[in-house]
Amino acid sequence: MKLLVTGGTGYIGTHTCVELLDQGHQVVVIDNLSNSKLGALERVATITNKKLGDGQNLIDDLIFHRTDIRDRIALQEIFQSHNIDAVIHFAGLKAVGESVHKPLEYYANNVTGTIILLEEMARANLSTIIFSSTATVYGDPETVPILESFPTGGITNPYARSKLIIEEILKDLHKADPSWKICLLRYFNPVGAHPSGLIGEDPSGIPNNLMPYISQVALGKLEKLKIFGNDYATRDGTGVRDYIHVVDLVKGHLAALDYLHTKKSILSIFNLGTGRGSSVYEMVRAFEQASGKPIPYEVVERRVGDVAEYWASTEYAERVLGWKAQYNLQTMCEDTWRWQQKNIENKKML
Ligand code: NAD
Ligand code: UDP
Repeated sequence: MKLLVTGGTGYIGTHTCVELLDQGHQVVVIDNLSNSKLGALERVATITNKKLGDGQNLIDDLIFHRTDIRDRIALQEIFQSHNIDAVIHFAGLKAVGESVHKPLEYYANNVTGTIILLEEMARANLSTIIFSSTATVYGDPETVPILESFPTGGITNPYARSKLIIEEILKDLHKADPSWKICLLRYFNPVGAHPSGLIGEDPSGIPNNLMPYISQVALGKLEKLKIFGNDYATRDGTGVRDYIHVVDLVKGHLAALDYLHTKKSILSIFNLGTGRGSSVYEMVRAFEQASGKPIPYEVVERRVGDVAEYWASTEYAERVLGWKAQYNLQTMCEDTWRWQQKNIENKKML
């Protein structure tokens, strides 16, 4: 198949490109490079032993266009020149805290951007899309594990709301025109990196998320971890999340792609998680073990908007997609650590 991957130079996008190329698919990436660098896609080419094309040669397996998803004309040209079979839509802004201060930017980029993408797909008679959603659309669930049928809402920031709005738009679109084939994938907490150590998550500034923060403490770039509360009603008092290796997450997309391929009309929602929750203390210990470095920490106030614990029910994805995450916490930490160490060297080359 030939896939259009929006946001394909980002963290999850690059790992997806590797897997797609390894499975023999052709990939056209569009990205405005607002939160990534082209060098990451060059590494994808290195890992997969492919040439990175600029679109001049339409038969290249991996092609990059620097394009914003809101640029209709560019999208029209891409859909005209490539015979795209399906779109995997990662492009979007994702910083929760920033979204609170810049709601219009987030809605314009994520919601308007997706509408324009969908309109241009429709114009090009292309109706298969996989959308990156998030488990935060469930808000603060009454029970765990979280099933796909749980209610959505109780959202506390514009980023998560933009994802929920897009989900609703996609549901309405499918109701209006059942020829669409749509998968909404609700990610739990993607972490880890490709085992080569060549690609991974590289947040700019001080990381907001636990795993990149811990790994920068291990590297000595940050002094100590601030644990946001140890008085939650969880097994050790710290927040519990369902961390999933990015390579497992990506394999969930390939399973979704195969699933959509067998359907004439579908709108499906799947959780992508492992079904296991880990606490902050457990993450600290696992990372110390993987890196051999101490992770100093202090316990501070709870972070506003945090929920105590959530993890996925994976039963539906296992049964329908035949997909199940394989990697454990140790591999997630080891791969993150390898990437962090290599990235210091690699950064000089970007
Ligand atoms: P990322 O920031 O690394 O990748 C997103 C990419 O989209 C970046 O390369 C960025 O430059 C690009 N982009 C942003 N706006 C664009 C636009 N208007 N036009 C073209 N390109 C644009 O993020 P990621 O972690 O790889 O996440 C991918 C998707 O998964 C995002 O939609 C994110 O919201 C979603 N998601 C991520 C997580 C996570 O923890 N990483 C969790 C849940 C959902
Ligand atoms: N966390 C923390 N210190 C940090 C970052 C996160 O204690 O510097 C905790 C946070 O309170 C939550 C867990 O780690 O319980 C995962 O947080 P993250 O931001 O990675 O994911 P999210 O809360 O968005 O699921």
